[in-house]
Amino acid sequence: MWAHVGQPFAETAYDVVVVGAGRMGAFCARELRRLAPALRLLLVEEGGLPNEEGATLLAPGVWSAHDAPPGREAEAAWTRAQLAGPLGDVQFRAAPLVRLTAQPTPGSRPTAEALAAHPEALALLDPAALPWAQVDPAAATFRPGAVALNAAQEAVRLGADLLLNTRACPGGGGEVTLERLSVTNTHEVVVHERRVVRAAQVVIAAGAAGAALAEHGLGVHTAHGRAYRQSPRLEEPSTEASPTLRAGGLTLRPQAGGWTLAPAIWHRDPQGYVPGGGALTGVPTGLRRETLEDLVALMDAVPALAGGGLGLGRSLSDVPGAWLALPHGRPDAPPLWQRLDETHTLLLGGPLADVLGLGVAHGLAAALAGVPERPWAPA
Ligand code: ADP
Repeated sequence: MWAHVGQPFAETAYDVVVVGAGRMGAFCARELRRLAPALRLLLVEEGGLPNEEGATLLAPGVWSAHDAPPGREAEAAWTRAQLAGPLGDVQFRAAPLVRLTAQPTPGSRPTAEALAAHPEALALLDPAALPWAQVDPAAATFRPGAVALNAAQEAVRLGADLLLNTRACPGGGGEVTLERLSVTNTHEVVVHERRVVRAAQVVIAAGAAGAALAEHGLGVHTAHGRAYRQSPRLEEPSTEASPTLRAGGLTLRPQAGGWTLAPAIWHRDPQGYVPGGGALTGVPTGLRRETLEDLVALMDAVPALAGGGLGLGRSLSDVPGAWLALPHGRPDAPPLWQRLDETHTLLLGGPLADVLGLGVAHGLAAALAGVPERPWAPA
């Protein structure tokens, strides 16, 4: 493992290079080491582990059967089983998810009844505006950053090489340029040295940057998009036993005695969009305008959003946020891998990575390892 530029790196060839150690890349690397221990494998990450700017660290960390796309239920269940056990401690907590609606849905019950044991959750809502509750008893919460960390550590334990603070630039013919980064005493990130390694296979698992990396480095066109997702806090009491709530596309996850919000993503951000804050009654906020509008629209149904506990921030840096890949540019598309040419494969997580990401990363590892393994398929 090479963490900083002081450690000389002289390797020149690998069977597989995985670009990006978010949860998708890290888990794919771990599975590759498990399934094909003979392959020489390098995992490259631009930041640390987990990268504080990646989508992984700020993903909601909510698994729910409600989110599994039709026909992919078994793969989603396999992803849940990985989170619950073999990956090591990811603070997995089985806790129901309660979806609240104005109209009854199949299997829904009155909200007041469904949340009777959770007054702290009921207190956030107006049950008259959201009278119906559909409960997913199999739901769970976990820490996505710990998934990336544990998976990468396991990959290294199983024999993978890991380069941190290194930007990888895939190019033609399986050449990958590695830019090892360091920080000057004026906090500027600079390229300390460049190395080129050859790889028989390159997995581009660079999150929201993946599609652009493929387009620039390989000259291929992809139809994928990205969106900037913010996760503001709502400081209203929650307990260890609180359920996750969902209303109007907004997910409220109990965390650290309060709630972390995961706003819905409705569409891709336009090319060149630069995240910026919005304004509420003329006062600047760190929440972007679209997110603010969504939350304002929900304030009647979820009065706690209007109660002063919502972390609006004053500028963008006050509200945690990250770029998220949108497979096919769609907010509802599942994670995927896609062959770009004989050497390169793009691996994307995106909005459904919490539910299905590990299954998809496993699928790519199995394909590269040449094993037809689909462990979730019925025997
Ligand atoms: P995912 O959910 O797909 O894993 P993330 O955004 O969490 O998405 O992970 C992508 C990771 O890839 C981030 O940790 C990011 O720092 C890393 N990354 C992005 N571009 C590069 C690059 N050119 N070289 C190395 N790592 C990269």
